[in-house]
Amino acid sequence: MLNGSLINSKLPQVGTTIFTIMSKLASEHNAINLSQGFPDYSCSQELVELIHKKMLAGNNQYAPMQGLLSLREAISKKMGLVYEKKYDAETEITITAGATQAIFTAISTIVSPGDEVIIFEPAYDCYAPAIELFGGKVVPVTLQFPNYTINWQEVASLINTKTRAIIINNPNNPSSSVFTKKDLLQLENIVRNTDIVIISDEVYEHLIFDGAEHQSIANFKGLAERSFVVFSFGKTYHATGWKIGYCIAPKELMNEFRKIHQFNVFCVNNPIQQALAEYVEKAEEYLSLPNFFQEKRDFFVDKLIGSRFTIYPSRGTYFQLLGYEKISNENDVVFAERLIKEFKIASIPLSVFYNKKEDNKVLRFCFAKKNETLLRAAEILKSI
Ligand code: PMP
Ligand code: GLN
Repeated sequence: MLNGSLINSKLPQVGTTIFTIMSKLASEHNAINLSQGFPDYSCSQELVELIHKKMLAGNNQYAPMQGLLSLREAISKKMGLVYEKKYDAETEITITAGATQAIFTAISTIVSPGDEVIIFEPAYDCYAPAIELFGGKVVPVTLQFPNYTINWQEVASLINTKTRAIIINNPNNPSSSVFTKKDLLQLENIVRNTDIVIISDEVYEHLIFDGAEHQSIANFKGLAERSFVVFSFGKTYHATGWKIGYCIAPKELMNEFRKIHQFNVFCVNNPIQQALAEYVEKAEEYLSLPNFFQEKRDFFVDKLIGSRFTIYPSRGTYFQLLGYEKISNENDVVFAERLIKEFKIASIPLSVFYNKKEDNKVLRFCFAKKNETLLRAAEILKSI
């Protein structure tokens, strides 16, 4: 038996992530897994073959610490094509082991004990623990249910001399909302004349529907000059298991980011970077994503018509929120577990993304699935 005093937990309140718990339960109960966000169809075979080719060609040793220059150049070019600001490949872009590592490293770069960091709830789960690990205080702002909009007056009222950073995730997981140009202009206004750094999680940049345009931080001068912006190849190329992404930021911020990055990962796997350096050039791949996922969303929602679940709007990401207030009074975690065990369908309860476990009786379902999976899932949901 280990002496308890050997462990001085840095995260005493933290357990295992909801994604791990729900995916495990789904597999134990042989349930359709719409909980953790990942596709159940294969990614591009052309890309897989390209990686294979890069491996066979001998690209199997360390990549440069910042990431392969050719990949950073391709990203720089893409940023200039898709958004208004082109970032310098040499000094302002770093390839990371997924968005999670980029976010963690950005937080570690700027948060010191006593600093306050504003996050929006429901909040993706990796922000708060990282802030707390570095001695920061999480200051949550609740997105207004049911449209999950931001009350900017509230945000402004929370800013003080201790406010070090604001983390924004757009399109937003888990709420599936999309923040508008007006939102970003408000943010720009609020941080003007402050030293607040923005961490912008834009992993769903291309998963945006109904003709809306993604408002990247890169399009707002007063924000871009103070922001770490984070992206994930896992989302864009239907390959969450590769864990590769990137972070962009002005040179001074990126310089500090790399000081930490070099000691927590050093570099990211080489053959995938080699392949992506070519594949990122194919603009049609990422430009087709809004249609691709909108069709999946619409297919799923259409098949749900007539069910007792409330269908909330999904404006971005690959998640659909469903309310079960007409079906049960149970707490959302209990209800989600019962759905797995009794009905063989797995989802994610939203209350886990709030520090106060706010329960609006809403569950999140991932629609990055084959149509046959979505159809089977919808049939189960309609029967409840
Ligand atoms: N941010 C958000 C909002 C996400 O949904 C995810 C994961 N799906 C990540 C970050 C992490 O991305 P990655 O798998 O590239 O680490
Ligand atoms: N981002 C994925 C989701 O929201 C989960 C990733 C993970 O399991 N950490 O479902």
